[in-house]
Amino acid sequence: MCFFDQHRFACGDWKWGHFRQHCAKEYRIGETCGMKLIMQTVPVGQKCKLCEKIDTKMRRRGAEVERISRWQREGVKFRASIDKAMDIIRHLDMEIYDLSCERNKRLQGIGALSAHP
Ligand SMILES: [Zn+2]
Repeated sequence: MCFFDQHRFACGDWKWGHFRQHCAKEYRIGETCGMKLIMQTVPVGQKCKLCEKIDTKMRRRGAEVERISRWQREGVKFRASIDKAMDIIRHLDMEIYDLSCERNKRLQGIGALSAHP
């Protein structure tokens, strides 16, 4: 059990930070025993990269939805623009879905280790 910092993001996600101390099982310089324990938690003021990407895409999605409802109020002449915006939204939805899956997978991956601090 070697000791590492834990970086905790504003969104609640976290990642391992710097290595801090060896445990008794591992004495080789530059090596760790493979079992990570938290030395200290370092709060990070922003969200993690994945959540930031999701946020950006959600904002973009919201803007497209707003554009569509504005065009719809103005009648049929914006049909083509609306279709295009719908395509963008479908594409964004796919990307947001993929990012969320990636985030869940990562949470499960490191969640197993954080279960025994
Ligand atoms: Zn996050």
